Amino acid sequence: MDFYLRTRATTDAAIDRDVERSCTSKQPYASEAEARAVMAMNGMKLFTYHCRYCDCWHLTRRPTSSSAPDIIDE
Ligand SMILES: [Zn+2]
Repeated sequence: MDFYLRTRATTDAAIDRDVERSCTSKQPYASEAEARAVMAMNGMKLFTYHCRYCDCWHLTRRPTSSSAPDIIDE
């Protein structure tokens, strides 16, 4: 039981760091269309991806299809 709690806390901390990196530093968008609209408005060449943590869309410099095969939304 003690081991289980420790393991779970470690996992949660790792996820928190991941969320902090991907979510708090990026603007969340309610839809891919909104993300693309903002990107076009600012003349940016970025990629959109759906975030599994905050359930919003983010923009990223890297294409997510090849570098993150675990993201299979759509
Ligand atoms: Zn996010």
